[in-house]
Amino acid sequence: MAAADPDPAADSDRGPDPAADPAPDAVTAALADLYRRLRTLDEGEVAAYIPELARADRAGFGLALVSMDGHRYEAGEASEPFTLQSVSKPFVYALALAELGLDEVSRWVGAEPSGEAFNAISLEEGTGRPSNAMVNAGAIAATALLPGATPAERFERVLARLSAFAGRRLDVDEAVYASEAATGDRNRALAYLMRGAGSLACDPLAVTDLYFRQCAVRATAADLAVMAATLGNGGVNPVTGERVVDEPVAVQVLSVMATCGMYDASGEWLLRVGLPAKSGVSGGLIAVSPARFGVACWSPPLDATGNPVRGAAALRELSERFGLHLMRRPARGAPTLLAAGQDAVVAAQGALDFTAAERVLFALARRAAGPAGPLLLDLSRVTAIDPVAEAMLRSALGRLSAAGHRVTVTGAPGRPVRDG
Ligand code: GLU
Repeated sequence: MAAADPDPAADSDRGPDPAADPAPDAVTAALADLYRRLRTLDEGEVAAYIPELARADRAGFGLALVSMDGHRYEAGEASEPFTLQSVSKPFVYALALAELGLDEVSRWVGAEPSGEAFNAISLEEGTGRPSNAMVNAGAIAATALLPGATPAERFERVLARLSAFAGRRLDVDEAVYASEAATGDRNRALAYLMRGAGSLACDPLAVTDLYFRQCAVRATAADLAVMAATLGNGGVNPVTGERVVDEPVAVQVLSVMATCGMYDASGEWLLRVGLPAKSGVSGGLIAVSPARFGVACWSPPLDATGNPVRGAAALRELSERFGLHLMRRPARGAPTLLAAGQDAVVAAQGALDFTAAERVLFALARRAAGPAGPLLLDLSRVTAIDPVAEAMLRSALGRLSAAGHRVTVTGAPGRPVRDG
């Protein structure tokens, strides 16, 4: 409202001022608000140890969020490309897990926070394993596990899978790749050290070259939000519908991101923000709210722990504002049990998971506490039963009939279905 407006009522008649809040929806409004307030936060330093990265625009700042339904929201420079750097690590770890499984991958790389710098030259005593796949040594060890007959074929596979996470074909920033290849002796040293300790599956020079290329893959914050959302959606890209990795792999990757994704600030991050995340030296940052959304920020200046200043501040606010901390109780859905009106009937509704199945089992056990007799389990309003709930129901029904109860089940969904 203009300061000179003599009649405030006349202004409110015209409705909200579109210039004050041009966002078409609440999520875009939240991102736009973060962008507006945090773009002036001019702290931190742009990484310079890879010379080409030092050229990044320190004012650049983009935010993007993708929901599990593939709805996309953006603010600021969300379409500005930058290199993934360490943000590639969770995705390449996912590819290694998808190829070899957790047990085999764990022989080569651990899952403990290192408490040391991302490029520290330190390996587990005895095994020579790097501590986790989010630090350079562990990422190089994970990259070494990827199959492929030639270096070109191996990289093409990596690029194709990263592209599947993003839902569009990504490419490589050749200048950043060349810059890191020219200066990456510390990473080569790490690879040689692992090779000497018996914990690197292939040639140190070949694997570091592949690693430098994977770090130089170029994407935007909008792409990264889709990649993050794919992890949060159990491995299915919510925009393209493609299954990129199996759900257990997505869960494993998110677990390591939660404990190791934010360099040496990972514990503090889990405490305050409470979301699995991964940052990189080019200013990229992804965070995942499992089964809700993936979010990504890009802003080159980094704090003393190596995390992007604006991105970290944006995620802290977003988590607080929308109550996203992983350890919070989820909102309680509709009640599982319907008042059936009869003692011998248990009627359930909605989607049955562990929590809902426990309620059904508890109610059945209560009904069955008396003398053995007929019982009715009415599932006609149940929309889905996940495998865990199905197994719980089966074993409860078996136990009840062994105890002499005659249980009739009506209206069970034909076969177990999963949400989404
Ligand atoms: N390519 C970078 C390096 O290995 C990635 C580091 C990072 O983003 O943390 O040094």
